[in-house]
Amino acid sequence: MHARRRWTVALIAAAVLTLGCGTLPDPDAAPDDSAPQPGAVPTTARASDGTTSVEEFRDDARGAVTEAENYWSAVFKSSGVAFAPVSAVRTYRDSGDLACGREAIPADNAVYCPAGDFIAYDADWAVAAFRKIGDAFVFYLLGHEYAHAVQARLGVEHRYAIDHELQADCMAGAYLGDSVRAGRLDLADGDLDEFRRGLLAVGDPEGQPWFAPESHGTVAQRTDAFFNGYEKSLAACGLS
Ligand SMILES: [Zn+2]
Repeated sequence: MHARRRWTVALIAAAVLTLGCGTLPDPDAAPDDSAPQPGAVPTTARASDGTTSVEEFRDDARGAVTEAENYWSAVFKSSGVAFAPVSAVRTYRDSGDLACGREAIPADNAVYCPAGDFIAYDADWAVAAFRKIGDAFVFYLLGHEYAHAVQARLGVEHRYAIDHELQADCMAGAYLGDSVRAGRLDLADGDLDEFRRGLLAVGDPEGQPWFAPESHGTVAQRTDAFFNGYEKSLAACGLS
């Protein structure tokens, strides 16, 4: 998957995470021989188009953020509402390199931080996921975090974290599906499969209560939410 435009401006590779997305598993933590564990990335997962370099990752991360901005800016404009992009996208490498408010942002994660209106991601973790799952995962991951920024702009709140997270998955799907349909993003062979593999990696562990504050949804719930948005656009995401 890639954005149609060439990235001629050297943007700072940014990383952003939203707290509440702190339970994404380590993509390197794939099981070797035991039964598949919930949340683990299959060891056979491989980028369908063979993209592996850090430069390609940076290009995709920039493209994902820029296209998300373009998308949400157009959505807001069509409703006559001004849109402000996130203030920054930051990268980090270790727990505590960055804080959201007073809370250290944990390693192996990506978050949107409402306190600073920035997205942050663990660069090593994200590159590892990019290599294991594929470039489409980067678009999903940053699309999900950007959706949290949009929820914040709209003042959307949910009683349970899981509803907030599943809505963000739906909004990420809408952003990507609409951008592909509009010809702003090219879908390569295998990208849809990469979305599915990515969602497989970020589902809650089996047995985790749905009402737990860290719950994001099971693999099935997250996959349904994402593809609902992908296929039906924002109408599926319960924003109105
Ligand atoms: Zn989230």
